Amino acid sequence: MSEKREPSVNNHTPINQTDRNLSDVFKELQEIRYSQTNQVHHSTSSKNKSKSKILFHAENNRFYTKKTINLSNIVICFIVLLLIIIAIFPKNVFSVETELATDNSEETIETASIPANVELNRQAFNMQKIIAENSNFEKVKEQVSEEREIEYETQTQSSSTLPRGEQIVQQQGIPGKENVSLVKTYENGEFIEEIILSKETLSEPTPEILSIGTSDFLANLNIHIGDSVYLTTTSTLRKEPSETSEGVAEISKYQEVKLLDLPNENWCKVSFNSFEGYLLTNVLTSISKTPNIIELSQSTNPNSWQLLLVNKNNKISENFDVELESVEKNHKVDKRIASSLKQMLSDARNQGLSPVICSSYRTNSKQTQLFNNKVKQYTDFGYSNSEAEELASYWVTIPGTSEHETGLAVDIVSKNYQKLDEKQEETAEQKWLMENSYKYGFILRYPTDKKDITMINYEPWHYRYVGIENATYIKEHDLCLEEYIEYLNNL
Ligand SMILES: [Zn+2]
Repeated sequence: MSEKREPSVNNHTPINQTDRNLSDVFKELQEIRYSQTNQVHHSTSSKNKSKSKILFHAENNRFYTKKTINLSNIVICFIVLLLIIIAIFPKNVFSVETELATDNSEETIETASIPANVELNRQAFNMQKIIAENSNFEKVKEQVSEEREIEYETQTQSSSTLPRGEQIVQQQGIPGKENVSLVKTYENGEFIEEIILSKETLSEPTPEILSIGTSDFLANLNIHIGDSVYLTTTSTLRKEPSETSEGVAEISKYQEVKLLDLPNENWCKVSFNSFEGYLLTNVLTSISKTPNIIELSQSTNPNSWQLLLVNKNNKISENFDVELESVEKNHKVDKRIASSLKQMLSDARNQGLSPVICSSYRTNSKQTQLFNNKVKQYTDFGYSNSEAEELASYWVTIPGTSEHETGLAVDIVSKNYQKLDEKQEETAEQKWLMENSYKYGFILRYPTDKKDITMINYEPWHYRYVGIENATYIKEHDLCLEEYIEYLNNL
């Protein structure tokens, strides 16, 4: 075996010789390879199978490894593909997660502070909004012509005859009318807007005029221009509203003056007897503010015109004269009481009542005629003339002794009950007058319980003007005029 090996080794050596050609070299190499392979096979024949097995395993192993590499390539490719997809649509993939995360956090916060029902409403509102924003509702337009009101304006004017803050509506505003031609737009059945095409005025609005008070002085005393005021201290009536102005007259404490004007808060223009001039407002007061003045004011002088006493014992003077003013139909009264009477009737009517004047000023001849008629009724029954006159005088005052001849008295009845009997006092009109007439200066002249003093039967319709202060005192002290005048005379 060793000898055979030697030539191969020897054959090996000449390979390095340069003069040999390539085909020879190739052949030699093949021989060497072949001999070596045989040598291995021969020398270890028993180990051959195991060797080949190992080779096979090795071969198998290599194959397996190759397969593994192929699978990982697929996985890598898949990941790369995924990455590409993510790279192409990065927002879509991530923003969904972000929004969800945000929504969740918001919901957590809001549900903690807002009640669940509110949250539901909010969502409902949002839904409506979303629907509204994303839907295209059809707009509907229509052209119409309609009559509309033109609002009246309120105009104000300041008035010193009113206490500050007080206001009187002088004229109630009336809206005007206009014909309006316009296009109305509706969206989803709901009115959205209108475009006015033309207007035609049918009637102009009448403004409402308000008179607004400006004076604290009048407001504090609760009086108006034209009312009576009283001096709290003896003062000089001046020609002009100034302390240095010329004096017109000296007016003593408690005297009554009539308020004519109020040029400013410090001075007012007044009339006193035949004088006119200015007084400081701070020397004046009203009855309502100082009731004690009632007993001492000029009008409570028993000789004042308001307290003229006319009865069976006090005949009216023959040269009595009075300036008359018409009130209601053909009735006339003393000019000085006309406004008070009108105001009383007006206020009663505003209360829903219907007072009617049935008798007012009477001339002496008219009174004589009335009296003679009554006397005749009694003489017809067989009474003597003196008896008849005595009886008649209880129903019709003897001429020259009737208050109706003074112009200071009126008979007022209910429109619904005009009989002059005692049932008259049951009417709402008489009840109101008995309760309120003193506020206007009138008294119920002949109360039943004073019949012995007045010598006149009960007449729940005969009202006599005596002035507010006198009327107030008479009512408060439950007196008749005769008693009151006697009380004044005894002061
Ligand atoms: Zn009368």
